[in-house]
Amino acid sequence: MKTDNTQETDSIKEMETEILNNIQTCINCRMCVPMCPTYEGWITQSAFGRLAAINLHLKYGLGSIEELSRLIFSCANCRRCQERCKMLSTNVTPTDTIIKTRQLLARKAQEWGRN
Ligand code: SF4
Ligand code: SF4
Repeated sequence: MKTDNTQETDSIKEMETEILNNIQTCINCRMCVPMCPTYEGWITQSAFGRLAAINLHLKYGLGSIEELSRLIFSCANCRRCQERCKMLSTNVTPTDTIIKTRQLLARKAQEWGRN
């Protein structure tokens, strides 16, 4: 039987897999960049940049957790990027993926608090 900690780790891994699978469907067209209301010239202020930062962090451990948190919590959840992706017929759901990553970081923080 799995302990609570093992179940929590499994659920974190499942969330990471779901997030990474979604990001892999991004076609890197960058059409979401200029339409993002938080974009002020830095690519990481857009959906495309946020997804790239999440991908680099989860896959390769690049970038600090503080920096990643700053990027994903600065998203305004307006869903413009998600609508754009839908029009492109991709399966990317950038807003949902950003929100899911917030939940992932919260879960990880909970787990660290328990250990
Ligand atoms: S998130 Fe969507 S609109 Fe933005 S680069 Fe990826 S596929 Fe293009
Ligand atoms: S949901 Fe977030 S990333 Fe997407 S366009 Fe709005 S502010 Fe930008």
